[in-house]
Amino acid sequence: MKFGGTSVGDLERIENVATRVKAAVDAGDNVAVVVSAMAGETDRLVSLARAASPMHDAREYDVIVSSGEQVSSGLVAMTLQRLGVNARSWMGWQIPMHTSGVHGAARILDIEPALLKERVTGGQVAVVAGFQGIGPDGRVATLGRGGSDTSAVALAAALKADRCDIYTDVDGVYTTDPRIVAGARKISRISYEEMLEMASLGTKVLQTRSVELAMKENVRLQVLSSFANEPGTLVCGEDEIVEQELVTGLAYTKAETKITLIGVPDSPGTSAAVFGPLADANINVDMIIQNISEDGTQTDMTFTVPVADHDRAIAAMDALQSDIGFNRIVSDKNISKISVVGIGMRSHAGVAAKMFRALSEKQINIQAISTSEIKISVLVSEDYTELALRALHTAYGLDGPQT
Ligand code: ADP
Ligand code: ASP
Ligand code: MG
Repeated sequence: MKFGGTSVGDLERIENVATRVKAAVDAGDNVAVVVSAMAGETDRLVSLARAASPMHDAREYDVIVSSGEQVSSGLVAMTLQRLGVNARSWMGWQIPMHTSGVHGAARILDIEPALLKERVTGGQVAVVAGFQGIGPDGRVATLGRGGSDTSAVALAAALKADRCDIYTDVDGVYTTDPRIVAGARKISRISYEEMLEMASLGTKVLQTRSVELAMKENVRLQVLSSFANEPGTLVCGEDEIVEQELVTGLAYTKAETKITLIGVPDSPGTSAAVFGPLADANINVDMIIQNISEDGTQTDMTFTVPVADHDRAIAAMDALQSDIGFNRIVSDKNISKISVVGIGMRSHAGVAAKMFRALSEKQINIQAISTSEIKISVLVSEDYTELALRALHTAYGLDGPQT
């Protein structure tokens, strides 16, 4: 059972969490709990770290931002004890949960579950601090924002749990962010592959890595509300989904920035010269568009990178300008990437055409397009994010009563 920030946001909510855990224990389940920091706490800690030192040491960043989960795990364990439940908190290093050495964005490499498993099967509830593990340097390492989801899935896999329930502030995965599109519907079942696309294209309800891991380890994942008593969304294999919609959901992200190099010589090796240095700088390039030049001499090259890497990407391009010989660099942070996702796309034509038509009817200009087997993404002006999502939600027939 994993509880997110809102679910442990104050002592009253922690009591609600403890009551739910107690009910599971009373029903005869052996339970491991994973908790996030109390709502808003990680943001507060991140800004403290940034204010103390803008170019901070990632190891010390992790010491600071991991502390939120330590507090909530202690509070949940303590509340469980008060309710008469045998419970104990666990920090990442105590399990231990080993991670890579990339502080601030570490990956879980290996969990040694023996001790924790012995306690859990013996009837003690383990309350694990999510978002943290121990790096090869023996220091606390955090898993990137939203990382408690991944802690929970990794632990469920290591313990060979029957289920991994992710309790949050919505009652499941919706066709799109319910905070933006009022008509969004709860999805009762979604395949790992679709959820993976949704998460990596910006749907924050689950961290991308957690879905990747659940798919790999075959963990039955459920997203549900900690404030209601109803089934949520099951993330499962495709074979468990009976009725497949053409489009399952819509995702969006405002976290990308568009960079255009104008007047790039149209000659072999130019792409390698541009994207090599970005890769070396660990900057993830997403969409790439290059026009064919009319006279075979010059063209424009457009690509997107995470907003957080904008300055570094521009610096890398500045350094290349004289070598490659392009005219100038233009960048635009005011963009949004909107994606439609669905495995139904594999076997149906016309999904993209419908997207373009729906956007054109709202006079929304498409700046770039990219597709894969089960998704289509477009880049539009950020100002049209909400309008585009609503129009597409209606166009694909996703509005309506909950399923
Ligand atoms: P937690 O703190 O429990 O981890 P998060 O804030 O990380 O919760 O994730 C839940 C939030 O994800 C919801 O409040 C909702 O606004 C947002 N969200 C975005 N897209 C979706 C979607 N398609 N379905 C459900 N929730 C979504
Ligand atoms: N507390 C961490 C965060 O806010 C991890 C999590 O909530 O999953 O990113
Ligand atoms: Mg989350």
